[in-house]
This record gives sequence, structure tokens and C-alpha cells, in this order.
Amino acid sequence: MAALGIRIDGKAAAERVREEVRSRVEAMADRVRPGLATVLVGDDPASAVYVRSKHRACEKVGIESVHVELPATVTQSELIGHIDDLNARPDVHGILVQLPLPEGLDEKAVIERVSAAKDVDGLHPVSQGRLLAGQPGPRPCTPLGCMRLLDEAGVDPRGKRAVVVGRSLLVGKPVALLLLERHATVTLCHSRTTDLAGEIGRADIVVAALGRPRAIPGAWIKEGATVIDVGINRIAEGLVGDVDYESAIERAGHITPVPGGVGPMTIAMLLSNTVEAALRSVDADV
Ligand code: NDP
Repeated sequence: MAALGIRIDGKAAAERVREEVRSRVEAMADRVRPGLATVLVGDDPASAVYVRSKHRACEKVGIESVHVELPATVTQSELIGHIDDLNARPDVHGILVQLPLPEGLDEKAVIERVSAAKDVDGLHPVSQGRLLAGQPGPRPCTPLGCMRLLDEAGVDPRGKRAVVVGRSLLVGKPVALLLLERHATVTLCHSRTTDLAGEIGRADIVVAALGRPRAIPGAWIKEGATVIDVGINRIAEGLVGDVDYESAIERAGHITPVPGGVGPMTIAMLLSNTVEAALRSVDADV
């Protein structure tokens, strides 16, 4: 039987990213103190938990945080007004609108209203265009986290066959572009892919972002492949990924667990994007 694959520790990797951010914040203290604003609309408890953890993470690395909390009854134009205020504040370098927004609010319009310079989520069409064009700019946090985990595992995508399952704007498409940028040969799969098992079976790197609990069995994984599981699915047993971890670790070379893999990286990369945005703001002033 093949040796068990190596578990990629996302918690430890995220701690290393936070430590890097902390040192960068210290080193830039005489120029600018990075500030991140969060906008929370409504009373969804999960969203409130996410926002609180972002604030705690900011505090630990010396990033200033600003919080705007609005009732679910806020109108589109009031919400846009708050975004405009944050766009104008010189002490705010990144703006994060916690999604999903309550029904009746136009998410796309809100995301597009955030100044592209303060888009630390990398979801603004300008940021997405920059990614497509290979120009520098903020990249979406979860995809950046996936790439960092490959680096942490010592896996260089250059020349490798990579299969990304899922084509959302949030995860699948940007991960595919980031892998392409690092010279992988990329296949992007989705719900109409006819032979998912065959595609995955040829892959040296698999990024699973389909949002279906344990949909990818270990038997599909090529021996020695690297598996990055983005999925977060709550089932009766608890949180599980899109890959069946127990069987996949028997074949993979490296694999991320769920929880404790990609999840912890997302906020760490948000902090890193905020530092980049703050640096760009002072460089732009020069
Ligand atoms: P979406 O629902 O937006 O996209 C899912 C994608 O998977 C779609 O492109 C869909 O195809 C594809 N898909 C669905 N079912 C299948 C299938 N059976 N076979 C092949 N492809 C399929 O999800 P997200 O991209 O937002 O999120 C994906 C997962 O990642 C979720 O579990 C989510 O919770 C998790 N996530 C985790 C984060 C983290 O921090 N770790 C951050 C963000 C998301 P089609 O386009 O054809 O419909």
C-alpha cells in the first residue's frame, strides 16, 4: 500500500502569514497604519461571527479596524452612502462588505461601489480584470490562500496538470487563473463536466471548490497528487470538505484537511491584502 499523504496544516500556514503581516505593519508604522473597514448588514449570526473574527485578526497584527453595522431594513441608497463615506476616509485602506446581503439589496452594485483601490476582497470587476490581464492588484483571498498552501507544501505548479472543480467568481475561476499564472496546465470543471473522475485522475494538483460534501472519492485521485480542498460543508457529523479526506489521504502526496486547511488562510490573506492596499495608497501619494 502507498504511504499516507502529508497533511498540509492550514492553521500553521495562516499563523506564518499573520506573523509576516505583523512584521510588515511594524516596518511601515512611520508611513501608514493600515485600516480595514467591515460592513455588516442585518443580523445573520454566521456573518456576525465572521466579521468579529476579522476584527480580532486585525487587532492581533496591528491593523486598525472600523466597523459599520446596519439593520436589514437599510435601503440600497443608504448602504451606498456608507460605502461612499468609507471610500473617502483616508484611514480606511480596505473595505469588506460581508456577504450575503439581506434580500432586496443589490450585492453586485454594492461590490462595484467599493473603490477598486480599497477592494481587499479582490471581487471588484477591476480587480478581476487585472487578474485576467496578469496585472498587479488584489487577488481574492481564498484563491490566494490555496496558492500559498501549495507553496507551503513545496509544490510548484509549473508544468503540472491542475484540475479545478467549480467555476465561481469567488473561488474556482480565480484559482484557475492563479494556477495558469504560475504555469500550470489548467482544466476548469463544473456541473456539466461529463467525466469528472477522468479529469481528476489525470491531475497532479486538484483544487476542489464545488460545495458538495465528500463528492470526490479518494479512488479518483492520482497517486502522489496534491489536493487542496476548499469545500466547507456542514453535515450531521460536523464540517467536511468536498473531498473524502480519509480515502484521499491514502493516495495523495499532500492534502488539506477540513477544517484546518484552506479555511484559516482566507482571513490571513485578507490581512495581507489590506497591508498591500495601505502601501499602494501611500505610494500613490508620492
Ligand atoms: P458556488 O456554489 O458558487 O460554485 C460551485 C461550483 O461548483 C459551480 O461552478 C458548480 O458548477 C460546481 N459544481 C457543483 N456541483 C458540481 C458537481 N457535482 N460536479 C462538478 N462541479 C460542480 O460555490 P463557491 O465557489 O462559493 O464555494 C465552493 C465551496 O467552497 C463551498 O463549499 C464553500 O463553502 C467553500 N468556500 C470556502 C471558503 C474558505 O474560506 N475555505 C471560501 C469560499 C467558499 P456550475 O457553475 O455548472 O453550476
